[in-house]
Amino acid sequence: MTTLIWSIASILVLGGLIYKRASLTLFTLVAAAALAIGSGLGIVGTLAWILFAIIAIPFNVASLRKSLLTKPALKAFRSVMPEMSQTEKDAIEAGTTWWDADLFSGAPDWKKMHQLPMPRLSAEEQAFLDGPVEEVSRMVNAFRVSHQDADLTPEVWQYLKDKKFFAMIIKKKYGGLEFSPYAQSQVLQKLAGVDSVLASTVGVPNSLGPGELLQHYGTEEQKDHYLPRLAVGQEVPCFALTSPEAGSDAGAIPDYGIVCKGEWEGKEVVGMRLTWNKRYITLAPVATVLGLAFKLRDPDGLMGDQEDIGITCALVPTDIDGVVIGRRHFPLNTMFQNGPTQGNDVFVPLDFIIGGPKMAGKGWRMLVECLSVGRGITLPSNSAGGIKTAAAATGSYSRIRRQFKTPIGKMEGIEEPMARIGGNAYLMEAVNAMTTTALGLGEKPSVISAIVKMHLTDRMQKCVIDAMDIHGGKGVCLGPNNYLGRGYQGAPIAITVEGANILTRSLVIYGQGAIRCHPYVLKEMEAAFDKDAGRSLENFDNAVWGHVGFVFSNLVRSIWFGLTGARFSSAPYSDVTKRYYQHMNRFSANLALLSDLAMAMLGGSLKRKERTSARLGDLLSQLYLTSATLKRYQDDGRQTDDIPLMQWAVEDSLYKLQTSLVELLENFPAFGGLLKFLMFPLGLPMKRTSDKLDHQVAKILQTPCAARDRLIAGQWLEAHENNPVGRQEQTLRNILAAEPLFDKVCKAAGTKLPFWKLHEVAEKGLELGVLTADEAQLLRDAETGRLETINVDDFDPEELKANPVEVEPTKPVQAA
Ligand SMILES: Cc1cc2nc3c(=O)[nH]c(=O)nc-3n(C[C@H](O)[C@H](O)[C@H](O)COP(=O)(O)OP(=O)(O)OC[C@H]3O[C@@H](n4cnc5c(N)ncnc54)[C@H](O)[C@@H]3O)c2cc1C
Repeated sequence: MTTLIWSIASILVLGGLIYKRASLTLFTLVAAAALAIGSGLGIVGTLAWILFAIIAIPFNVASLRKSLLTKPALKAFRSVMPEMSQTEKDAIEAGTTWWDADLFSGAPDWKKMHQLPMPRLSAEEQAFLDGPVEEVSRMVNAFRVSHQDADLTPEVWQYLKDKKFFAMIIKKKYGGLEFSPYAQSQVLQKLAGVDSVLASTVGVPNSLGPGELLQHYGTEEQKDHYLPRLAVGQEVPCFALTSPEAGSDAGAIPDYGIVCKGEWEGKEVVGMRLTWNKRYITLAPVATVLGLAFKLRDPDGLMGDQEDIGITCALVPTDIDGVVIGRRHFPLNTMFQNGPTQGNDVFVPLDFIIGGPKMAGKGWRMLVECLSVGRGITLPSNSAGGIKTAAAATGSYSRIRRQFKTPIGKMEGIEEPMARIGGNAYLMEAVNAMTTTALGLGEKPSVISAIVKMHLTDRMQKCVIDAMDIHGGKGVCLGPNNYLGRGYQGAPIAITVEGANILTRSLVIYGQGAIRCHPYVLKEMEAAFDKDAGRSLENFDNAVWGHVGFVFSNLVRSIWFGLTGARFSSAPYSDVTKRYYQHMNRFSANLALLSDLAMAMLGGSLKRKERTSARLGDLLSQLYLTSATLKRYQDDGRQTDDIPLMQWAVEDSLYKLQTSLVELLENFPAFGGLLKFLMFPLGLPMKRTSDKLDHQVAKILQTPCAARDRLIAGQWLEAHENNPVGRQEQTLRNILAAEPLFDKVCKAAGTKLPFWKLHEVAEKGLELGVLTADEAQLLRDAETGRLETINVDDFDPEELKANPVEVEPTKPVQAA
């Protein structure tokens, strides 16, 4: 019995130290104390002390540890871990880590997360949202843009330039607006709810492109020349990286520049002859300045002794002879300006390189660094804005539209997809707020920006399909009154651009996250390939043994959380959210443990095991989305009315996380079954969101209330002639106000009338003396809005004929 008690107590105390990540010295001292107690009780003999000494001494005496243990470990590490290429190094080193590193740590510090600042708009930013953003929204007729003009009108273009919409990222000293990332996100969200062409046109110059690159890397001369012109729309920028041969594998661009002498403005200068063939370039057809990425070579040694200089970015005015722009692609009827550009031996001076000749060859690094900012704002904001407006529209539509004498939104079948829209709208705003907060703090969180780009565009696409399904034929028939169909059509564009989603999930999120966010791996790699042998051993020693302790700690935490359901783990609140934090503590430890095991088992080949990498990335991603949701709930003042929305978003994400985790274990290189048993001895903790919760969320979407107002806050919902969603909002309020009046008339008439022809019901009510004139008018207005809501557009066949396009038979492309 004494032995049992001593054993259990020792395991608990030592396990507790590992759980708490105690230092090696403390752990050794406590282990020695446990042995001493065991000796005193007559349980522990000499053999145990000898074993203890054999293990403890080499670990605790630094010189012994380094020569006996660290050196062989370093040799083994070098043999399994290939040295990184420069492109990989650039991608890994670009940007910063932030809250993602905490989530990866196995023990996130929730207090730290909740102490992060709340996003706020300045008075100037708010005025811009209330003024120019609403004004331009009124000016845009989305159907005309996509169907008739295939472009924004000249008036809208001019307004965007005049009000500096393209200069949100440009500093004030250059005449820009210098808005915070959060403000940029709010502007794009609002515009996305109006028209995706409008949002893309504004989003792109404010994302990765000449403006961003110039501000970070441009020479003073370049900044002084271009930034004021970009700020007022005198220059229209685009950025051309993608070519037919190099899409996702953008580092493989075949476009090139040769350093040579040539004539520029009457003088002989050293410059570059540029040759490119780019496609899919947003704003290229109307651009005045082309940001161009190409590979620079210097065969004659005019710049130095390096022949292959590497990827370089330059600004090429499009009015130079030989620059070809103007033709357009036709991206899924979403008629923003997008097209190809070519150039053949176009000579420009070296000064056209962004940052000047000293930045030649640094283009890739520049791109990946800037990508983490733009990618975290533009597409996630467009996605969130689109879905917030779709949430308003789907809620109002399903409350107004009746079938089987019932608003369709009250049907359980409809509640399920509607809850997905509501829960995701809540989550997406939360994620935007948290991510732009990071950007506002000066972070360049490359892993987080990949997560939000991929997951928000993915959720947007799925939600817009849900919204289409709920709208039935109303969503299908295009016309000025269809507010969904174009968003549905265009959703794959967001999936594809700025890192196509499959690639981002399979390769980028975890591929970068594992190394960037892990507390030890990058340090180990840097130490292993350090040319200074002494420093290499010293730093590797620190990293590798810290790493071993980290693995044991996550193993103990995972087992303990599995046995207890993480019930005793820390949570910053003891209300309805408490269990969510505890589940996240558990999943964070699971992620950290499985990540180390996968790296140990697969080594360098992990990056080719894309499905393992994708699922590990899912764990990190869902933890990020969930924590952003909990932060939003806190920042919004823990509103009781919002609980169903918050719960839906959190439970859905944690369930998705668990699904990926189970799939990961089922396909783990080895011991997956054992690990599953250790991590989930009492079964899986998360369930799909319940029908009851779905019902609560669906109800919020259909009922004007504070929670609904917060959900769709910031979107343009004015009942304007160019805004069918805004008009439908008004109709929703009218219909809800009309229902009791309708019931009153039915009661007085002694019959249950169908809920249509409300103008006739109004007359009957007046006739029976149960309605006032105002109430009758309300019924008439409700009927007008109701008919507008349920009706779709129709056209004369001639109106639908497209402008003729000369279609040539497809010819084989001739090799140059
Ligand atoms: C409308 C539009 C606007 C654009 N705007 C610009 C712009 O302004 N400037 C610019 O330079 N580019 C722009 N792009 C290009 C865009 O960034 C590329 O389309 C994108 O990088 C993907 O390249 P791709 O379309 O050739 O697809 P591919 O690279 O051919 O990819 C096809 C599929 O394979 C997947 N895939 C590729 N590699 C892997 C991998 N290793 N593992 C798993 N899956 C993988 C991808 O996820 C994708 O699903 C735009 C594209 C479009 C369509």
